[in-house]
Amino acid sequence: MEGCIFCGIINKNIPARIVHEDDEVLAFEDINAKAPVHILIIPKEHIGSLNDLPKDREPLLGQILARARAIAAERGIAKSGYRIVLNTGPDSGQEVFHIHVHLFGGRRMTWPPG
Ligand code: 5GP
Ligand code: ZN
Repeated sequence: MEGCIFCGIINKNIPARIVHEDDEVLAFEDINAKAPVHILIIPKEHIGSLNDLPKDREPLLGQILARARAIAAERGIAKSGYRIVLNTGPDSGQEVFHIHVHLFGGRRMTWPPG
């Protein structure tokens, strides 16, 4: 989508440190990492947020979570643990309106989140 940063990364118009790519899903390092492992996993299709996910695209969520798990294993944080975050809408602090899952790990997380 025109003007979408993450579509720009998908199209390779905006550089990113890509860690996984397949036909449907892209994963890349967050530009402003908040943990030793901080990776964003997104669908290649532009979907603004979880609220905008069409019913027939719901299987994408499973693909994204399975990819997050695989990356966690590759990065050696499966056992130590990790956090998955899917910010949705203003109260969550969502800044980029192309649905994305954050994978955080490599340090102890606090709870509740801020
Ligand atoms: P949100 O708050 O929308 O859930 O998170 C958006 C995330 O995207 C933030 O963690 C931010 O650092 C990351 N981000 C924003 N712009 C870019 C970019 O151009 N490249 C990369 N790699 N990450 C970005
Ligand atoms: Zn987009």
